[in-house]
Amino acid sequence: MKLTILGSGTGWIRLDRNAPGHLLEAEDFCLLLDCGAGVIKQILKLGKKLEDISAIFISHFHPDHVSDLIPFFFATRYNLGYKRILPINLYSAEDFSIFFELLKRAFNNWVEPPEGLLIINTLPKKKSHSFFIGPFRAFTSPVKHNPESLAIRLEYKNKSLVYSGDTGYCEELIELSKCADLLLIECSNSEEVYVEHHLSPQDIADIAKKAKVKRVVLTHFYPHSEKVNLESFKKKGFLGEIILAKDLMEINL
Ligand SMILES: [Zn+2]
Ligand SMILES: [Zn+2]
Repeated sequence: MKLTILGSGTGWIRLDRNAPGHLLEAEDFCLLLDCGAGVIKQILKLGKKLEDISAIFISHFHPDHVSDLIPFFFATRYNLGYKRILPINLYSAEDFSIFFELLKRAFNNWVEPPEGLLIINTLPKKKSHSFFIGPFRAFTSPVKHNPESLAIRLEYKNKSLVYSGDTGYCEELIELSKCADLLLIECSNSEEVYVEHHLSPQDIADIAKKAKVKRVVLTHFYPHSEKVNLESFKKKGFLGEIILAKDLMEINL
């Protein structure tokens, strides 16, 4: 499988780091992990079309993770330029149905795709909920951020990737990440600036060590958190590979 970083940033608007979005591909199946502002344009930059997106996973409903769903859904109503035939499957916590109803009301239904083009799959807030997304075996667990927040583990041909979404330190994420080949994890905090329900490099090192993951990719950077001190990983005893995400970076697994 191939991971492409579409947005390594946050709600802090900047040119070099788009809002969160990550693309995971296997067997021509494209799974979008979160859909923050600008993610759609990042997909177009890869030479892909909106119809190429097979499924979307939304980790939680903070604006930096969902705001490009609005233009994405709106575009499905323009059949002059949009040629989707197969429905898009969206996966998120149970509360997504309420969120989407409110969105439709706010935009007077202009964000509702034509009938049959969107399938909303809601996920329970229980640990290691198992299901399939296209060729991927998926597992989700609640994490410590918003009430609806879920992290996801995706497995394909003996390889595994875990995406934390936004979260604070929690045992659920460690359990979900056990022996993963790659942990794509948020890094919002630094040693100097620490906000609850987010992670610092020290927390990440701890999680990666305990879960025995092979590689970590740090993403969701603020200007204060992007200069990562790699020493903290050594101090915590994590000896795997550490990658600092950049927009449009590709990682093969
Ligand atoms: Zn965020
Ligand atoms: Zn958030």
